[in-house]
Amino acid sequence: MNDERKIKSSFSAYTISLSIFFIFHSPFFILHSLFSTFHFNMKRLSLFILTFILHSTLCILHSNAQSFDDYFVNKTLRLDYTFSGTATEQHIAVDELCQTDGWYGKRQNLADVPIEGNGQVIVRVHNKDKVIYRNSFSTLFQEWQSYDEAKEKARSFENVFIVPMPKDTVDVTLQLMDNRRQVVASLTHVVVPTDILIRHLAVKGTTPYDVLQKAENPDKCINIAFVAEGYKDTEMPTFIADAQEAIDALFQHEPFKSLRSRFNIVAVKSTSVDSGTSEPAKDIWLNTALHSNFDTFYSSRYLTTLHLKDLHNILAGIPYEHIIVLVNSDRYGGGGILNSYNLSTTHHQYYRQVVVHEFGHSFAGLADEYAYENEQIPMYPHDIEPWEKNITTLVDFNGKWENKIDEKAWKTKEGTWSPNSEAWNHDNGKPQLKASKKSKKSKKAITNDEQIGLYEGAGYSLTGVYRACPDCRMRTNQNPEFCPACRKALTDLINFYTE
Ligand SMILES: [Zn+2]
Ligand SMILES: [Zn+2]
Repeated sequence: MNDERKIKSSFSAYTISLSIFFIFHSPFFILHSLFSTFHFNMKRLSLFILTFILHSTLCILHSNAQSFDDYFVNKTLRLDYTFSGTATEQHIAVDELCQTDGWYGKRQNLADVPIEGNGQVIVRVHNKDKVIYRNSFSTLFQEWQSYDEAKEKARSFENVFIVPMPKDTVDVTLQLMDNRRQVVASLTHVVVPTDILIRHLAVKGTTPYDVLQKAENPDKCINIAFVAEGYKDTEMPTFIADAQEAIDALFQHEPFKSLRSRFNIVAVKSTSVDSGTSEPAKDIWLNTALHSNFDTFYSSRYLTTLHLKDLHNILAGIPYEHIIVLVNSDRYGGGGILNSYNLSTTHHQYYRQVVVHEFGHSFAGLADEYAYENEQIPMYPHDIEPWEKNITTLVDFNGKWENKIDEKAWKTKEGTWSPNSEAWNHDNGKPQLKASKKSKKSKKAITNDEQIGLYEGAGYSLTGVYRACPDCRMRTNQNPEFCPACRKALTDLINFYTE
């Protein structure tokens, strides 16, 4: 859960392909033009156009298909870092580099990110500007910086990122952004793939795991791994059943339902000595696989693990990119961090809702659409547009859900957006068309989706931050689905990874 910015790079791949095409084809084009001046006829012209189209298609296909193999081999490079600092300072240091066989992340759109995140890992050709891989993320460290504790002391946090193993020497840059989307810390270090100190992991086998769902096309799919936390050896059948229930819950929601065949899912049977999770406020400390605990940052419901290296050690050698930690507890709790992991308790009545909500955070960087009575976490400055696709401050609403809104109902006569449209009576987050307007419409109940507009109160703030609909999976446990803004963001993301 968090904020930030990025230079929109989704068009860059297309632009590059086009420029390559013109550089490659201009001599061909000129020759043909000269030739055709003298021998113009329709047959030759069609042949020329056909050749032209064929060449351009092949060229674009070639540049896309070759990009992964040009720079990477089928292995994972794991980058471990320590992030440290206070509310106002941040430092990044390399901890260790590791490697495993196989790469299970994206193999296309390598230099682009679909969402900006609060930080990015950027891989460049050594001593060149050319970006060959980029991914975005958020961290618990950055979230902690917004808590009072960070004003009083310095702390450090483990962070782990996985990238495909480069063929040759690369420069890796880690950068962290603040909630005004400004880069506030950056570290660039050289990685030499032949470095003998890049630790080999999983050389003696992997943690046991079950494949719960196979993707239709293993080369273009999204790899999800469920990881057991607080399950003893004898409780593994319960863990597998819990993972299956999460899968059922996730694929009941659109757009996951329609795009189910694009997901590859495993359940990793990491055993714990104790059953359950640590509850510091009750002085309960257990010996579990990931050392998770409630009361993160002294917030009672906030369940996380700070032990990211343990998490990735458990996963070494297993096909994974997106991680869902299932915690064997009946207490309500969870958390989700973009491209890091999410975590939910499995035996609470809202398990199904929470696990999907937290996946919205960790998989797609969706923001929370609820607000606190007193804005306890000033996460989103009202004069900055958040990068999250499901909330807006209206500073730069483009590219979010503006195309889905009925402008007649939601714009002023002057053409500016008019949040909390007068057409709706949206008290208590359960809006209905106001009586006078409703009588003109059909008597059919108006759905949550049909009310898409701009509702004030989102991103922990009662004012200045807007959401798309009265309710959403990212707002309450009661709503059965994601709102249209979230569905669009999720669809775009799944397509980015798999098309
Ligand atoms: Zn949330
Ligand atoms: Zn939503």
